[in-house]
Amino acid sequence: MIELVGLTKTYGRRGKTTTALSELDLSIQKGEIFGVIGHSGAGKSTLIRCINLLERPTAGEVWVDGVNLTELGKSELQQQRRKIGMIFQHFNLLSSATVYDNVAFPLKLVNTPKDAIDRKVKEMLALVGLEQHSSKYPAQLSGGQKQRVGIARALASDPSVLLCDEATSALDPQTTDSILKLLLDINEKYNLTIVLITHEMHVIQNICDRVAVIHQGGIVEQGPVTEVFLKP
Ligand code: ADP
Ligand code: ADP
Repeated sequence: MIELVGLTKTYGRRGKTTTALSELDLSIQKGEIFGVIGHSGAGKSTLIRCINLLERPTAGEVWVDGVNLTELGKSELQQQRRKIGMIFQHFNLLSSATVYDNVAFPLKLVNTPKDAIDRKVKEMLALVGLEQHSSKYPAQLSGGQKQRVGIARALASDPSVLLCDEATSALDPQTTDSILKLLLDINEKYNLTIVLITHEMHVIQNICDRVAVIHQGGIVEQGPVTEVFLKP
């Protein structure tokens, strides 16, 4: 479902280069919650941003649902990207738009009919428990509520993959747990594949099926969470 083959990313050029990822291979199955953990600078953010080509790999292939994204032209890539939702540490909401319009935004971009947008936005806001807040602006929401808007927006395009880039790192422990519970519910309801990167072990232990430990741009260990973290 997600297949990274020989993924390499080098930043900078001649003389001043940093290799963030080095010939990394990884397979993630459909419906799986897959965690990537590692210290700051290990390459986690680069890895997750390569899955939707927010970051273009220097070498290697990125396959999602049987399509090699690295071979696509601009418009085909835009089409495929709709299958990949993403949420962020700092939510990345439009501050001058209401909750409703933030969730509607990706649908408006592709000229979805108004009644279809309305149905989808209401469905998504119900899913994340924010029906009563649709007319508020992001500044009027708590951190947990902002991330719920982020999740609703990411899911509005019916993606098959959700990428979570340190999605709970700005939240307190209790709010983190409620967001992880929501991700778990969504994973079960839609059989959505979830890839999350974090530096927090308890996030991985809380919801992930499998985990990869990344260090200096390579995977040093991977497997079921219980095997990787609870070895004698
Ligand atoms: P992590 O998310 O695990 O903290 P990153 O993927 O952000 O790791 O970074 C991996 C390495 O790549 C680090 O050495 C970092 O300094 C470098 N790096 C990340 N982004 C850039 C960039 N835009 N330009 C140059 N170097 C970068
Ligand atoms: P546009 O900015 O494209 O003109 P509108 O703001 O007129 O869109 O809204 C279009 C439709 O979206 C409205 O008819 C309404 O059903 C729905 N809508 C917009 N904002 C909200 C909101 N805060 N809560 C519930 N529904 C809303």
